[in-house]
Amino acid sequence: MIVDHQRCCYCGGCVSVCPLGALHLAETRLLVEESCTDCGLCLAACPVGALSFAESRPQAAATRLSPRYDVIVVGAGPAGSLAAWTAARLGLSVLLLEKRQEIGSPVRCAEGIAHSGLAPFIEPDRHWIAATVDKAAITVIADGGHETLRAEGGYGYILERRVFDRVLAERAAAAGAQVAVKAAATGLLRENGAVRGVVVRGANGTAEIEARLVIAADGVEAQVGRWAGLETALPLRDTMTCAQYLLAGVDVDPTCCSYFIGEEVAPGGYAWVFPKGEGRANVGLGVQADLLAQPETALACLHRFIESQPRLARGSPVTLISGAVPVALPPRRLVADGLMLVGDAARQVDPLTGGGIANAMAAGRLAAEVAAEALARGDVSAEGLAGYAVRWAEGPGEKMARHARWRERFPPGMRTSRNFLRIFAVAVAGG
Ligand SMILES: Cc1cc2nc3c(=O)[nH]c(=O)nc-3n(C[C@H](O)[C@H](O)[C@H](O)COP(=O)(O)OP(=O)(O)OC[C@H]3O[C@@H](n4cnc5c(N)ncnc54)[C@H](O)[C@@H]3O)c2cc1C
Ligand code: SF4
Ligand code: SF4
Repeated sequence: MIVDHQRCCYCGGCVSVCPLGALHLAETRLLVEESCTDCGLCLAACPVGALSFAESRPQAAATRLSPRYDVIVVGAGPAGSLAAWTAARLGLSVLLLEKRQEIGSPVRCAEGIAHSGLAPFIEPDRHWIAATVDKAAITVIADGGHETLRAEGGYGYILERRVFDRVLAERAAAAGAQVAVKAAATGLLRENGAVRGVVVRGANGTAEIEARLVIAADGVEAQVGRWAGLETALPLRDTMTCAQYLLAGVDVDPTCCSYFIGEEVAPGGYAWVFPKGEGRANVGLGVQADLLAQPETALACLHRFIESQPRLARGSPVTLISGAVPVALPPRRLVADGLMLVGDAARQVDPLTGGGIANAMAAGRLAAEVAAEALARGDVSAEGLAGYAVRWAEGPGEKMARHARWRERFPPGMRTSRNFLRIFAVAVAGG
């Protein structure tokens, strides 16, 4: 029995009909054991034709893709969707590719954003806002004791990113962009060294699609930039390795974001408790990856943190997520001939707080505006796109650079000082 993993939607239907128990669903991967006798029962149960005795045939595509576009955006996170939305609004033909089958899922985020970071891009909407917050509490834990600094202000939201990300992609589609899910970019097309499109692997096979310009919004993985020769590799010291539970049945202030700093809690990072309403909260932490001595993990730190907080320890985990946050400055080059990097793929994350949603949207919009100007001039060379890096550095990048300096000035052991706390309080409030 052969599984077409690109086509499989991991529904589990086949597992339930196999008389030998030869199929196992390991999260998003269907495994076939050697005990399979090729009886074929599972074939009939699969709604998407992902099982076959031989290599599967191409399927009719739900979305018909054109052979060429003005712009292809790889990745439908906040950066990619804002880029596609903006480019389509500016009259360009746009394809937005997402390798997952469901935009916004699985969530890899604590979902906090300041009102000032969200409002320039989309009107806040209760359909994708889980909680509204207007204060922060920052607790320093050191030498067995703790001290809490409370800060009013910092008006913001805890999102439902599963919905939020999809809404952004829907806005892109409504503006005229073509959106494709289960469509992974697996390589770049080149002409005289310049990027001229992408190789796309989807449920209906592999296709080469041309574009005058490609915007890489593929998140922390950042493979597309690497294919184009840009330096996107992250050193461990600039990587926060994170684990988070959505806890239900916890007693937390529904209007307050809480942060916990201390080397005993999260070396080089911090723990967070972000309320999600109805007795739920995103409870997680990020640890600077090079400070973890094996076999220590971020998840083990999180378990200890939750156990140390009686009001959290009472809760039940209903979701576990893990992920990495880049806390470096963007790479030296954000563009190549025919290619631009945006969002996590360009490391445009606040180095002090790890917040990246607002920056991703800002970068997506800015990149699409610069792209439209460059396409109108007929010059999408790295030089023709250079205005993107300049405008980024003069805009959101200015705050990022300042926060990177603070991160250097207060290395992990010094982050329990009053001065750092004051800086951190302003940063988490969106300042
Ligand atoms: C644990 C954790 C907590 C966080 N908490 C916060 C927070 O509270 N507030 C905040 O502002 N930020 C937070 N962040 C950071 C935030 O999630 C990111 O900065 C933000 O999602 C970046 O958006 P993006 O569009 O650049 O990338 P992403 O949201 O990662 O989207 C990239 C998309 O590209 C797709 N993709 C990748 N490769 C391909 C390919 N080859 N072909 C097609 N599609 C591809 C991916 O499937 C994904 O959908 C957190 C991150 C983590 C890990
Ligand atoms: S072919 Fe038959 S034995 Fe093999 S996995 Fe499918 S149902 Fe199970
Ligand atoms: S029935 Fe098809 S889609 Fe569902 S898990 Fe099995 S192979 Fe995947």
